[in-house]
Amino acid sequence: MSGEFQLIERHFSGWPIDKAQIKLGVGDDCALLNLGAEEELAVSVDTMVAGVHFLPHTPPAIVGYRALAVSISDLAAMGASPFAFTLALTLPKNDDVWLAEFSRGLFHAASLFGISLIGGDTTRGPLSISIQVMGRGVSGCAVTRASAKPGDEVFVSGYLGGAGVGLAQAKQHPDLRSLSLRELINNADCPLSRFLVPSPRLALGECLAGQASSCIDISDGLVGDLGHILAASECSASIRLDRLPVSQEVRDFAGDDWWRHALSFGDDYELCFTASPEQWLSLSESSRFKAISSEIPISKVGVITEGSGLKLLDDSGVELELVSGAFSHF
Ligand code: ADP
Ligand code: MG
Repeated sequence: MSGEFQLIERHFSGWPIDKAQIKLGVGDDCALLNLGAEEELAVSVDTMVAGVHFLPHTPPAIVGYRALAVSISDLAAMGASPFAFTLALTLPKNDDVWLAEFSRGLFHAASLFGISLIGGDTTRGPLSISIQVMGRGVSGCAVTRASAKPGDEVFVSGYLGGAGVGLAQAKQHPDLRSLSLRELINNADCPLSRFLVPSPRLALGECLAGQASSCIDISDGLVGDLGHILAASECSASIRLDRLPVSQEVRDFAGDDWWRHALSFGDDYELCFTASPEQWLSLSESSRFKAISSEIPISKVGVITEGSGLKLLDDSGVELELVSGAFSHF
């Protein structure tokens, strides 16, 4: 387990929760709070620090859009529908032009994803943006990380590794400041957009609510994030290399290492979910799921098994060595 997650487990997990309304605390994409008999609230907070989560010189409209999109991805991972968010901003100075652009991007995302700003906090210091998102879901239908079972199949939405290529392109970009939010959104599949303006898979997540056995959003790479499902569900998985959805751009970028790149680079914000064969049958027959999967490919990449840890198999079933490269802050 990487340093960041060890730190969380050692110091912030396992404390008593004595409120019956708190259904799920530390350890998943969101916490879950009862809203009454029929509904529950999914809550998650994410921080973006300048120079760590985004490159200096990223246009502020893109920073605002990305901060909200990334936070909302945790709602998608639970199958919750966006409701409201709070914003804690730490700013080096009161820069009206920067703030006008930042809020333009932020509220563009807010209107696209159907979420409202309801409060926050503003302080002075090195640039950092924390967004807490709240989403609603039907009681008992949230898709957690902890219920995958041997025999379930493992699925991934979209393509893996594109955002990693986008990050490399952004680092080498001759004029990052000139990038336009609108153009990036209009070209959502290009690597730069995959990194700078990710698309949280909200419609897919809502469709999986009550219909999949587990789900996580891929923020740190499939190896690390599927690893969280396996740890929480106390099981193992075999993943087939030839089933991984990897674009030609990623293969060209990473050469022979394309699969390591696709498995360990994060920031794609696709969903990885598991479903039993019966759940998959019912999902794949639903018209809502058919409509979503006609726009976003859903790939069956492997299967959940007894045991622990992740196995990667090549086309002939031979196990490959996995050197995990999931990102950790510590
Ligand atoms: P995600 O990538 O889905 O946003 P994280 O990797 O940031 O999730 O966090 C993993 C889990 O640990 C989440 O349930 C999160 O709420 C919890 N967590 C992270 N940092 C803290 C903290 N400082 N205090 C309490 N819980 C934390
Ligand atoms: Mg997450």
